[in-house]
Amino acid sequence: MAKKIAVLPGDGIGPEVVAEAVKVLEHLRRDFGLKVELETAVVGGAAYDLHKQPLPQATLRLARQADAVLLGAVGGPRYDTLPRDLRPEKALLALRAELKLFANLRPAILYPQLASASSLKPEVVSGLDILIVRELTGDIYFGEPRGVRKLANGERQGFNNMIYAEHEIERVAKVAFEAARKRGKKVCSVDKANVLETSGLWREVVERVHADYRDVELSHMYVDNAAMQLVRAPKQFDVIVTGNLFGDILSDEAAMLTGSIGMLPSASLDAANKGMYEPIHGSAPDIAGKGVANPLATILSVAMMLRYTLNESALANRVEGAVAKALDRGLRTGDLYTEGMTRAGTAQMGDAVVAAI
Ligand code: NAD
Repeated sequence: MAKKIAVLPGDGIGPEVVAEAVKVLEHLRRDFGLKVELETAVVGGAAYDLHKQPLPQATLRLARQADAVLLGAVGGPRYDTLPRDLRPEKALLALRAELKLFANLRPAILYPQLASASSLKPEVVSGLDILIVRELTGDIYFGEPRGVRKLANGERQGFNNMIYAEHEIERVAKVAFEAARKRGKKVCSVDKANVLETSGLWREVVERVHADYRDVELSHMYVDNAAMQLVRAPKQFDVIVTGNLFGDILSDEAAMLTGSIGMLPSASLDAANKGMYEPIHGSAPDIAGKGVANPLATILSVAMMLRYTLNESALANRVEGAVAKALDRGLRTGDLYTEGMTRAGTAQMGDAVVAAI
C-alpha cells in the first residue's frame, strides 16, 4: 500500500526548497517504483494568512494521518509582532507535541567537496559524518513547576526543572542504538552526571538499554567535554545521544562544523518511526522568492525519510549519492559558491540531483 506523505511547504524559501524535494520524490515514484502519495497543506505564516492560525485543524489532521511529514520552514518578519500563540513557530512545537515526536535526529555530514566551507581546518572536518540524537519532548524545557516567583525579601527568582522519567530516556536511547546499527556502531551518551541527579539516572538507563545492543560500542561523556571534543576532533563520534537542553546546543555546534546551513537535514521520530522531516534552516526571508536558496538540506531530509520511515535504505543512499554527484559537477548555490564553481539556482540544483539519481 502507498505510504502517505503530508507536504507542508510553509513560508519564505520553504515552498521553493520543498518543490525540489517533491521533484525527487516524484522521480522515485515514477522511475523506481516508490509507493507514496503526496498531499499538500498550509502551515505557519501561510496558514495564518488564510485561516488566522498557524496550524489549522485540516493540516493537523493530514499530518496525523500521514506516515511522514515533509516540512519546509516557517516564519517571517511579518509575523513577529503576533501574539506568541499565533506565531508560525508555534505550529512546529504543536506538530512535535501532537505527533509525539520525541527523538530528533540531526546528521552533520561534511561532503569532501565542501571542506573549505567549514571554519575548522579541512583535515579536522573533511569526511565528517556524525548523527546527533536529541531527546525532544522532555527535560528542562518542559519540566514543571516552572516560573518566576517572589522571594520573602521582594526579589524575584526564576526557576525551571530538569526532569527525565526512565521511559523517556529508554526510548530515545533505543533510537540512538538502532541508528548506530545502521552506521558506525558507536554511541556516545552525553550528560552531566558528575553534577546532576537527572544525568545520573540518564546514564544508568542508557547502560541498561545497551544490554540489548552489545554489538554497538557505548561511551559516556560530560557535556562540557563533548562541546570541546566536537571542535577538537569531531570525527571521533558516530552517534551522540543526549537530552533536550544539551542536544539543542550541541546539535547547533555540530551543524556549524559543516559550514553550511543549506546542507543540513533533520528528522523527528515517534516510537513507530513515523517522522517529520525538515531542513534545519529557517525561512530565510532575505533570499525568499529569488530562486537562489539551496534545496539540498530538504532533499537530504527526503533521504532521511526514505531511510527511517519508508525503509528504503537503497533509495536513501541513491539520493545522497546524487547530491554528491551534483556537487562533483561543480554546481553551487549562492551559500556554497566559491570561485571556479558553477553558480546554480534552486531549481537547477534540484534538476541536477534528479538527473544524477
Ligand atoms: P534562517 O535559517 O532562515 O537564515 C539564516 C541565514 O542563512 C540567512 O542569511 C539565510 O539567507 C541563510 N540560509 C538559510 N537557509 C538557506 C538555504 N537553504 N540556502 C541558502 N541560504 C540559506 O534563520 P533566521 O534568519 O534566523 O530566521 C528567519 C525566519 O525563519 C525567522 O522567522 C525564524 O523564526 C524562522 N526559523 C524557522 C525555522 C523552522 O521553520 N524550522 C528554523 C529557524 C528559524
